Amino acid sequence: MRRKLAAGNWKMNGTGASLSEISALAKMYPDASVDILVCPPATLLDRAAHAEQASAVLVGGQNCHAATSGAHTGDLSAEMLRDAGATSVILGHSERREDHGEANEDVRDKARAAMDAGLTAIICVGESLQQREAANTLDIIGGQMSGSIPDQSTGENLVVAYEPIWAIGTGKVPTLEQIGEVHDFIRSRLERRFGEGVGRSVRLLYGGSVKPDNATEIFGVSNVDGALVGGASLKAQDFAGIIDALQKA
Ligand code: PEP
Repeated sequence: MRRKLAAGNWKMNGTGASLSEISALAKMYPDASVDILVCPPATLLDRAAHAEQASAVLVGGQNCHAATSGAHTGDLSAEMLRDAGATSVILGHSERREDHGEANEDVRDKARAAMDAGLTAIICVGESLQQREAANTLDIIGGQMSGSIPDQSTGENLVVAYEPIWAIGTGKVPTLEQIGEVHDFIRSRLERRFGEGVGRSVRLLYGGSVKPDNATEIFGVSNVDGALVGGASLKAQDFAGIIDALQKA
């Protein structure tokens, strides 16, 4: 059985004052039946990991460098994230692929470093609107998976997030059929590459405008094991609506 996961990506939002949102979540869910993960900006990681009662909420990074150390001004290694209290790191988010020119191979190298450091890599894949309209979605996702998921992946150290770029922060959501088609495809690719045991144990998240009012139907789709949530993860109350839906799914 895959344990479900509600993951929040705060992106470049939040200062020390926002830690109260994490404490609020921890108080609301002292014993959740799903994993709750918040990925705040790196400046907050250590404090988030040690926030009041925060042991009920896992914390993660939003990026890491592929190297373990060295002359990389402004970057953070996977080991540093781990040292600050992270258990996971989001890699290959479309905003990093676009803003920082990250290619699949870069994502794969970062994922290797994350896994070597004992982190779970949450690897994001997803098509643009143009690619979807050209009926290229599955080819794009397949290519991103082959290029960015390392060979050492297991059900413990890998989570795959399907995030259609056109659904991120737009309020647009694919149909349930479209989500199901991609998630089933990702599952079958993982099974083919890693064998049924590993392939079936990797958790698959849907991300892109998940809100409390659409979460229940999305979580009812086959092979959706949770969500990667941007905007609606910033406030504990909103994120709680999604966590509640996931706990009932
Ligand atoms: C994201 O950026 O990972 C995301 C899913 O954002 P939002 O929920 O705001 O669409």
